[in-house]
Amino acid sequence: MTEMKVMIETGWNLDNSYARLPESFFADLKPTPVSSPKLVAFNENLASSLGLNVKELQKVEGVDVFAGNRIPGGARPLAQAYAGHQFGHFTMLGDGRALLIGEHITPLGERVDIQLKGSGRTPYSRGGDGRAALGPMLREYIISEAMYGLGIPTTRSLAVVTTGETVYRETEQIGAILTRVASSHIRVGTFQYASKWCDTEELRALADYVLKRHFPDVNSKENAYLHLLQEVINGQASLIAKWQLVGFIHGVMNTDNMTISGETIDYGPCAFMDTYDPKTVFSSIDIRGRYAYGNQPSIAEWNLARFAETLLPLLHQDREQAIKLAQDSLSDFAELYNKNLLSGMRDKLGIFNEEEQDKHLIEGLLNIMEKYKADYTNTFRQLTLEDFEDTPLFRSDEFTRWYELWRDRLDRQQETKEDSKRLMKNSNPAVIPRNYRVEEALEAAVKAGDYNIMNKLLSVLSNPFAYSEEQKEYSILPKESTCGYRTFCGT
Ligand code: AMP
Ligand code: MG
Repeated sequence: MTEMKVMIETGWNLDNSYARLPESFFADLKPTPVSSPKLVAFNENLASSLGLNVKELQKVEGVDVFAGNRIPGGARPLAQAYAGHQFGHFTMLGDGRALLIGEHITPLGERVDIQLKGSGRTPYSRGGDGRAALGPMLREYIISEAMYGLGIPTTRSLAVVTTGETVYRETEQIGAILTRVASSHIRVGTFQYASKWCDTEELRALADYVLKRHFPDVNSKENAYLHLLQEVINGQASLIAKWQLVGFIHGVMNTDNMTISGETIDYGPCAFMDTYDPKTVFSSIDIRGRYAYGNQPSIAEWNLARFAETLLPLLHQDREQAIKLAQDSLSDFAELYNKNLLSGMRDKLGIFNEEEQDKHLIEGLLNIMEKYKADYTNTFRQLTLEDFEDTPLFRSDEFTRWYELWRDRLDRQQETKEDSKRLMKNSNPAVIPRNYRVEEALEAAVKAGDYNIMNKLLSVLSNPFAYSEEQKEYSILPKESTCGYRTFCGT
């Protein structure tokens, strides 16, 4: 079949504007073909919303694209160069096991990156094999789609294929490739790369590209680069607040894992917190808790400072002035973040208007949740439903006192109890991808090739605010506490 025919039938409409950047930003490269691709996960809803043909994509020619065995017309596969601070240490990185196939233009004119993750070695692979294992790719699929369901900006997962090949980690694993969709894969680390290894004109080309692609309204403003910085700060202040509000822990908030678009990216050792404790860490490599739940806002601020540094030559000719401009913008982060968090917490408690003491009320609840080791999601779920389990938190006098304050607070607003309940239902997920549920789904898929548990999980996570009958069992806590739960980088 000709490429053109496949393209028309599958609906791919590819361009690659990134390839028009200076060549130091990428390496042209084709994926390394795999022996026997098999489609094991496919996101029909996402495919149709992108204007792709759901049926055709699942045929051999369609699957070959997800496997990297076929390059659709219009594609210009490339590996992106980037750098990053990993756990605070600056390193040269880049797509070591991923390739940008191209940018798909949707029927609505949106431009999204189509990236294959696990597609083979690249000039940036360092010692790695360029491949990915099935478990971690399915894990990214589940959690990214759960985040989407929660209304949190994120990269999406279109498909997972197994490759028919084995990858070697600590043990032999099934090889797989994830097709990831993102508004772009440009990271703080991309700017760090430009700042360190490219000249100012190349850095400017990157910044101009980002402005045009992500912030077209800013492009014409005076000092557009300062606006770019402010937009990225805004986006992260909003994103991190959303993470905190659902108890999401990214686990590896290196600067190369922070997008300029404000989408959550790179689901490696991430997980959702069960018991409320700001010190919660799941990642096996995060020994010192750098990326603990409670540290995420300050780490984001640190990463943004690294971003601001890269922009200094563009902000002002005079370095002192440039630093002053950057610092002024960075100092807005904490306030923006706190505003977003407070507003989200008000929603979680069914509060519509603003009162001075709201912060105190919210902190009061979080403090007793921490003291009584309450489950984060279920506490808010039960407050929403006013259906309280017999737990140490709900039995405590502190909670009784807090509950009185909260009810009084709700009485002081015009909206009815029903209004509050509706707001709470839309703000407090009835389900999150609990670690044991994710593990159970992955185990069945990877060990037995049974995708039923995963598909059911994906289905309940697609609308976490439904409060449906079938979601009930997903709020059951694991038998043993998952405090000791450990996640691993998806390499
Ligand atoms: P990540 O932990 O996925 O954010 O990856 C950090 C860096 O390591 C990125 O530059 C990746 O491209 C690279 N990397 C991760 N796994 C592999 C692998 N199996 N082969 C080559 N490079 C990899
Ligand atoms: Mg990464």
